[in-house]
Amino acid sequence: ALPHGARIVEAPCMGACDEAPACSARPRDVATPAPRPMPVLDALRAGRLTRDAILDALDVAGLRGMGGAGFPVARKWRAVLAQPGPRHLVVNADEGEPGTFKDRWCLEREPHRVLEGALVAAEAIEAEAIWLYVRDEYPEARRILAEMAPALPARRPVHLRRGAGAYVCGDETALLESLEGKRGYPRHKPPFPGERGLFGHPTLIHNVETLWWLPELLATPDAPARFAASGRNGHKGERLFSLSGRVKRPGVYRAPIGITARDLIETHGGGMEEGHGFAAYLPGGASGGILPAAMADLPLAFGVLEPLGCFVGSGAVVVLSDRDDLAEAARNLLRFFRDESCGQCTPCRVGTQKAVHLLEAPRWDRALLEDLAQAMADGSICGLGQAAMNPVRALLRHFPKEAVP
Ligand code: SF4
Repeated sequence: ALPHGARIVEAPCMGACDEAPACSARPRDVATPAPRPMPVLDALRAGRLTRDAILDALDVAGLRGMGGAGFPVARKWRAVLAQPGPRHLVVNADEGEPGTFKDRWCLEREPHRVLEGALVAAEAIEAEAIWLYVRDEYPEARRILAEMAPALPARRPVHLRRGAGAYVCGDETALLESLEGKRGYPRHKPPFPGERGLFGHPTLIHNVETLWWLPELLATPDAPARFAASGRNGHKGERLFSLSGRVKRPGVYRAPIGITARDLIETHGGGMEEGHGFAAYLPGGASGGILPAAMADLPLAFGVLEPLGCFVGSGAVVVLSDRDDLAEAARNLLRFFRDESCGQCTPCRVGTQKAVHLLEAPRWDRALLEDLAQAMADGSICGLGQAAMNPVRALLRHFPKEAVP
């Protein structure tokens, strides 16, 4: 385990842009780690660790899903266990939120830990099979998993599936559709995947980082309480933050849940880049909204930023400076959502196009943008359409008029 504040990756490159082949920041030829012992899995199989003890440990730790929604892990497991089998375990490695790259680090540097977490979860819910869904833009991670999978001490089939570059397939129900060989359209909920998921069976879906935490949390009897106590400002636990933008040292940082953006930038990111003044930050990637530097002392934790129209989501903190054009940043994010909308529902398909059009006008029509944002939030099927206007709304709400055309 790394201590607080350990810097564990050199650069935030997601390896997906056109410059990737020539980019020195992109990890190359990441070696496949040698097989390692899986003590937590062994303890579970030997009966030294029971399913009930695991659920209690997850309750004490307060572990929540790190993919963005922050749903309590133990509750998710209990919901799946309440359904009759057959059940499935799905690992969501379709990390596509702009600014998020911590799952890539887990998969490339500590894949055995992710896989042990997956095997433990599968064993605990008595899953029929494990499904690893890895985004196409992470070829090294996919290769590593493909090389490691045959040697896993698995008692059930392990399927490795490649995504095809759609952001929306990070949505758990779109991912299930894709796994079933269909177009990646998000499903209406309910039913939730825990009730009716992959091929109609109860399915436990976990983000990579969530599983990465399991072996550490279940290693010793006191680990869950220590994890819970490591949070800050009244929050429980730690997580991996992806820090990028105008900071001296972008990277993945293990830090307490509840740390502030200012502390993250100063303590872990080495401060602002030379010549840049801290102006704003995206607390949760593209969909988590934008906040001014004056609000950088708020805890980065689930539930804190929501009243401000923002959220911390997958922990992607993107730092903007006084040399950045905030309105252009919002336009850029909306173009991304427009391009990635799956087109299934009208509020999102038409709304994102309309939003880009409105944002490209010399003066923004505030009232119309607010109306559009509300219609999209109310009427879209999935989180993409519901949250797409968060950056625009946050800009209108929290920034001085000079920042908005
Ligand atoms: Fe597709 Fe957007 Fe509707 Fe989600 S909100 S289902 S991405 S069109």
